[in-house]
Amino acid sequence: MNLNSKAYLIYITGLVQGVGFRPFIYRIALNNNILGWVENNNEGVTIHAEGIENQIENFILSIQSQKPVAASIASLSVKETISKNYSNFSIRKSSSFSQLVTEVSPDIAVCNDCLDDLITQSHRISYPFINCTNCGPRFSIIHALPYDRHQTTMQPFKMCAVCNGEYENILDRRFHAQPIACNHCGPVYHIENQNIENDQIPVYIAKAIDAGKIIAMKGTGGYNFICDAYNELAVSTLRERKRREMKPFAVMCADLRTIEISFDLNNSETKSLTSWRRPIVLLKNKKFLAPSVSPNLNTTGIILPYMPIHYQIFDHLATKAIIFTSGNLTDEPVCISDSIASDELSKIADILVSYNRDIFNRSDDSVVFIATEKERIIRRSRGYVPSPIDLSFDTEGIFAAGAELTNTFTLGKGTQVIFSQHIGDLQNAETLAFYEESYNRFSKLFRFDCQLVASDMHPDYLSSNFARRLKLPIIEIQHHHAHIASCMAEHNVNEKVIGIAFDGTGYGDDGTIWGGEFFICDYIGYERKFYFDPVPLPGGDKVTKYPWRTAVSYLYKYLGSDILDTDLPFLALIDKTEIEFVKQMIAEDLNCPKSSGAGRLFDAVAALSGLCTTSNYHAEAPMRLESIIEINCKGKYIYHIEGKRIIFYKMFYQILKDIKRDATVALISAKFHNTIVSLILDLSKQLRKETSINKVVLSGGTFQNKYLLEMTEILLRMEGFTVYSHEKVPSNDGGIALGQLAIAGAKRKLQNLK
Ligand code: ZN
Ligand code: ZN
Ligand code: FE
Repeated sequence: MNLNSKAYLIYITGLVQGVGFRPFIYRIALNNNILGWVENNNEGVTIHAEGIENQIENFILSIQSQKPVAASIASLSVKETISKNYSNFSIRKSSSFSQLVTEVSPDIAVCNDCLDDLITQSHRISYPFINCTNCGPRFSIIHALPYDRHQTTMQPFKMCAVCNGEYENILDRRFHAQPIACNHCGPVYHIENQNIENDQIPVYIAKAIDAGKIIAMKGTGGYNFICDAYNELAVSTLRERKRREMKPFAVMCADLRTIEISFDLNNSETKSLTSWRRPIVLLKNKKFLAPSVSPNLNTTGIILPYMPIHYQIFDHLATKAIIFTSGNLTDEPVCISDSIASDELSKIADILVSYNRDIFNRSDDSVVFIATEKERIIRRSRGYVPSPIDLSFDTEGIFAAGAELTNTFTLGKGTQVIFSQHIGDLQNAETLAFYEESYNRFSKLFRFDCQLVASDMHPDYLSSNFARRLKLPIIEIQHHHAHIASCMAEHNVNEKVIGIAFDGTGYGDDGTIWGGEFFICDYIGYERKFYFDPVPLPGGDKVTKYPWRTAVSYLYKYLGSDILDTDLPFLALIDKTEIEFVKQMIAEDLNCPKSSGAGRLFDAVAALSGLCTTSNYHAEAPMRLESIIEINCKGKYIYHIEGKRIIFYKMFYQILKDIKRDATVALISAKFHNTIVSLILDLSKQLRKETSINKVVLSGGTFQNKYLLEMTEILLRMEGFTVYSHEKVPSNDGGIALGQLAIAGAKRKLQNLK
């Protein structure tokens, strides 16, 4: 035994499981002559390392500096221990199942080493399904645990001898890379109705894109539509064929340099764009692509290549930016079926590109934006799912059904929360089927034994309906309480807070529609302290399509019906008989549910200012209102409080005055946004005075408004508040299932204590 030999236990936490971390540790242990073992456990990864002091030091430095791309280390601690005089270094097998669960990794963007191998490895020259332990498909191809090749859609492909050699060799980067494949043994692309050599496929696609054609191409989690983002005719043709008039398209750019030319880009945005999760990142436009890429908005969703074939296509493309949007029919989930693609997507696309491996788990591209330098998730799907969220308490056996629009659901596994991928709007029959299928698949994959169900209080939500059909004990949860709890759970806050939930709509416990809410709440209960003054919504849900109806309703309420007979510019944009009809509905209270939704107030201001009187897609009016803000304007309007109601009478009066004196919409928008920020500030201070609570939690879809979120956070912090907002899950209804789960878990715990 070497006298200088020492032994240490090294504890590592973070995202270190299911990302090739143990083989990596094995390799660097060998490089540094370290003996001992590495194992996964509930806390993360533990290493017993024996060796000479400076070699152990080098070993630890290498862990930090050379870790796999998809791994992230939250903590690394070292403790001296007794030497066991090991004669080798070994990987210990995972013992408990709860450890296996966390080993389902999200899909990972192709890594740089693999991109290099495309040029240098003889059996993988230009092989478009190249992958390794650090990259490649994971969640999209797995149907059962443990994660082994025969439990994935790689099952039909028999490894060739060369691949098998790499797969078995622990020193190889492809050791136990389940989707390992090469030109001799793996999946291949093909173009429908064309007979093209494999290596010519990217060339063929590139030529077609440059010629203005529309391509439907099978991706990691589903099909995408692709065309030249600089070619207005191609982009508008895609809109026409897809029947998607205005909703912005995402764009894939060749590289960061291309992005910098056309968009504002800061360090946080670059970090998200280049991360292995490869989300679509909303960036501020500098120079425009084709006009119909993101009409009327000052941002565009940008993504970098993440599959080998994306890089290969750009190698041959003249254009540096392509439309990259979900390959689906309007409102339906993204297409993963080759036969449906062949029947349906081929009506939209000129060319259909597919490959002969199945996608098992569907997922869309994820969407994020950066606010106060942090990544905020709008759609959590490919690259993020099924990474669990850690909770500070147990939710084992609880299923939370989520909401109705932008639905996701969650399952509790111990103190970890498994999130489904973005499912979508359940009112679409195909999407509802996808929801039920995903629940069954997640239950099987994660061996989930459901004992308790949490659902939205809304009696008509299809997710609540599904929850009831499970015939298990059920806890119904108020929508905005779940929003706040979701943000609390994400930050492990477990005490009474000031909860501010702003969104379009959610069922209130008095049967009216809520959505501009100030709560004092914890997981167990909530007290509604202040709320936006409810207005009638003429035609109910219809108002989301016709924001002018809500504008008319606010004016009617605050300034009387006579104001609607004056020559307000926005009314000139609407059919006279329709206006009369809506006035009558309000006067007679016919189909006019009352709503305090913040989204409706944004709608009304966008319509009243003439910016957006009818809406082509979900939240178009608030998005355009944000897009047009005059950033340098510090002015604001006046509101007042009556009891618990926040009254906007004076604000509407002032907006009308501004319109009369021809103030720009940019100015009106800024003053409106500043009003909302200032009322958040005022009421938070008032609630702090009353309750001594200093923690403010922000949630709900309205906080996807970057200006609102940043200004609110900054000003609340300046006033000494501790502020929490969403970073790991969406603030929209796509994050609500986390809050439902946390509330159900906390209530169950309380019950058990009684
Ligand atoms: Zn790789
Ligand atoms: Zn092979
Ligand atoms: Fe909501």
